[in-house]
Amino acid sequence: LGGPSAGSAMPRYVRVNTLKTSTNEIITYFKRQDYTYLGKARRIEELSELGQKKGKKFLQDLHVPDLLAFPPDTDFHKDALYLAGHLILQDKASCLPALLLSPPVGSFVIDACAAPGNKTSHIAAILQNKGRVFAFDLDTKRVSTMSTLLLRAGVTCQELANQDFLTVRLDDPKYQKVSHILVDPSCSGSGMPDLMRVHTDASSGPEQEKRLQALSGFQCRAVSHALSFPSVQRVVYSTCSIHQQENEDVVMKSLEQNPDFRLVNALPSWPLRGLNTFPESSYCLRASLSDTFTNGFFIAVFERKSNQNESST
Ligand code: SAM
Repeated sequence: LGGPSAGSAMPRYVRVNTLKTSTNEIITYFKRQDYTYLGKARRIEELSELGQKKGKKFLQDLHVPDLLAFPPDTDFHKDALYLAGHLILQDKASCLPALLLSPPVGSFVIDACAAPGNKTSHIAAILQNKGRVFAFDLDTKRVSTMSTLLLRAGVTCQELANQDFLTVRLDDPKYQKVSHILVDPSCSGSGMPDLMRVHTDASSGPEQEKRLQALSGFQCRAVSHALSFPSVQRVVYSTCSIHQQENEDVVMKSLEQNPDFRLVNALPSWPLRGLNTFPESSYCLRASLSDTFTNGFFIAVFERKSNQNESST
């Protein structure tokens, strides 16, 4: 894959909320509004080509079912179906964690750092609103935003808590059946180009190193806490950071501290893999504007070793 290319542009991604509608219905809806449907992408490069285009056209994504891609200047903020919660504006990379967590319909799931809840609503859609999603967040305002967004998205299987995930008790009977956990914690945001423009002062030097070490310490604690729930089978860890300290280093330490777990080879067809810093780091997945036409992102999928059924997804 090529390195950063000057012409890289990111399509506008739209996730179809299958709790309210279907991808076929939405494709018909846009066709009726004079959008040209270019079909389902067969190569990832088609997303880059779309990222250079303007006008009313769209593709179906090749990796994430129920994800559509439009030219970058497409604005959905006033679209009736967006306002009604049928469409979720979500970057492609941030759709991958719920997809890779893939909890079976009816399961009990924890979303450890959940607000504003885009991944929570994606998990609920995968669960078809059956089972339970316990969604935690430390930030009161963000929990309130999440509550509004989940209502709009038609999510009914959630239980929200304005609580530090690290204080959630492993022996609480409520969580004894939790089999799947998503850990999408606070991170440097270095994969988000807009955020980084704001924080350029802190993007290098000893201050940056200190900040990354603090984030990384919290991220390790959050992953280890998730891996300690009694019935947990699968944990997905994700960040919108490009830094090894918050990504591969966290995964390596978590594996060392939790020998009952191994990595799953996440989405083997995905082109950009974890940095080669420890055995099986290539099982992790990275995303970037230049290689995958998304924001910068990182994902690792842990599974309990006794679970013989799955070794790649
Ligand atoms: N998963 C969210 C989504 O897709 O909409 C985005 C989560 S954001 C990257 C990280 C979140 O972690 C923030 O909302 C922050 O308030 C929350 N957070 C930070 N520390 C936490 C903790 N100890 N327990 C629970 N939530 C925490």
